[in-house]
Amino acid sequence: MTRVLANARLTDGSTVDIHIRDGMIDAVEPTGSKASEASDGEDLCGWLVLPAMAEPHAHLDKALTAEEVPNPKGDLFGAIDAWITAAAAGRITLEGTVERAAAAMELLLVHGVTAVRTHVNVLGPNPTESLSAVKEAAARFDGLLDVQTVALAVSPMNGAEGADNRSALAAAVEEGVDFVGGCPHLDSDGPGLIRNALAVATDAGIGVDLHVDEMLDPSVLTLREFARQVIDSGFEGSAAASHCVTLGMQSRAVQLEVAALVAEAGIAVFTLPQTNLFLQGRDHPTATPRGLTAVSALQECGALVAAGADNVQDPFNPIGRSDPLETAALMVTAGHQLPDAAYDMVSNSARRAMGLPVINIKPGDPADIVAIDAPSIRGAIADAPMARRVFRRGLLVASADQQTAIHHPTQEEK
Ligand SMILES: [Zn+2]
Repeated sequence: MTRVLANARLTDGSTVDIHIRDGMIDAVEPTGSKASEASDGEDLCGWLVLPAMAEPHAHLDKALTAEEVPNPKGDLFGAIDAWITAAAAGRITLEGTVERAAAAMELLLVHGVTAVRTHVNVLGPNPTESLSAVKEAAARFDGLLDVQTVALAVSPMNGAEGADNRSALAAAVEEGVDFVGGCPHLDSDGPGLIRNALAVATDAGIGVDLHVDEMLDPSVLTLREFARQVIDSGFEGSAAASHCVTLGMQSRAVQLEVAALVAEAGIAVFTLPQTNLFLQGRDHPTATPRGLTAVSALQECGALVAAGADNVQDPFNPIGRSDPLETAALMVTAGHQLPDAAYDMVSNSARRAMGLPVINIKPGDPADIVAIDAPSIRGAIADAPMARRVFRRGLLVASADQQTAIHHPTQEEK
């Protein structure tokens, strides 16, 4: 049996019926032109259909804690301190993390996200507690939302003083994660951290997704080291570098040199505009840098660049709607992307970087689709209307409706 998403509008303005079989798009035909044996489906009433969105970089274990874990300093180290203090005071519980992570997943899904990659803190006396919480939350969305996990190990990772952190990472890998994480720019031995991450990932047969150079100091450029090590080691897993803020602070020549290495290494770069616009640049009151990576140099060199939200309503970022259209809007405004390219960075480019098949609303594509009541991709990003239908493998998994009204006062009320 096929399902039909009828009266769907493509970005070229044509209205089509999308026939779905076994979760995949089987045919895309002008509306009403193909008879169907379908017994169910949806009438999309001319809403725009787009590839479902993907969130390549989240922290679902920290999401939605802005009230419990305030960060009055507003910078990255204020956020890290606030989190450590709250955790030490017992304000972050397993049960609370399960509920918050589930709430954040629900928000992502209702906005049109069918795949998310989340970093999860791996530290302390129960290093896998947050991972267990996120997995428990993810189980509630089985079949609705693909959840990839990254073990975010803390530094130091090498030497005698890194022993606890290395065993915390090993425990997380043992429990089951998709990626090894870490922050080489915060480690006294960044190259050593990268070497260890690649070795652990190789042994476990998983990928690597590092927080890289999340600062404005141009003398720090661990991205170059990461790319070289991936190339030299012949690492075969999936590799991603998130943030890469200091690349944006380099000369154009250095940007292009490093971007070429990143492309050669096959490292996907995730730029995270909202959190980096919030956290970075506070000590640069004049001509404040935006804190984004060198998006155009990376693109010019053929590197895969996607965009994510990073933190949402926590000490690292007090706002955020869990809506990739918000990230896309920032990529237009702060990243100087055209709207179609910005949407691609939160949908198909993010999916490619996450190892998922791309969706072009063509036969053979997975039927992960978001329908939105908007005139165009530009209009969808501009208005971000909460009039959406989200389909995963052709099945409706979330919906939102928006109503507005103007009420004119009567003559007497005036
Ligand atoms: Zn992050």
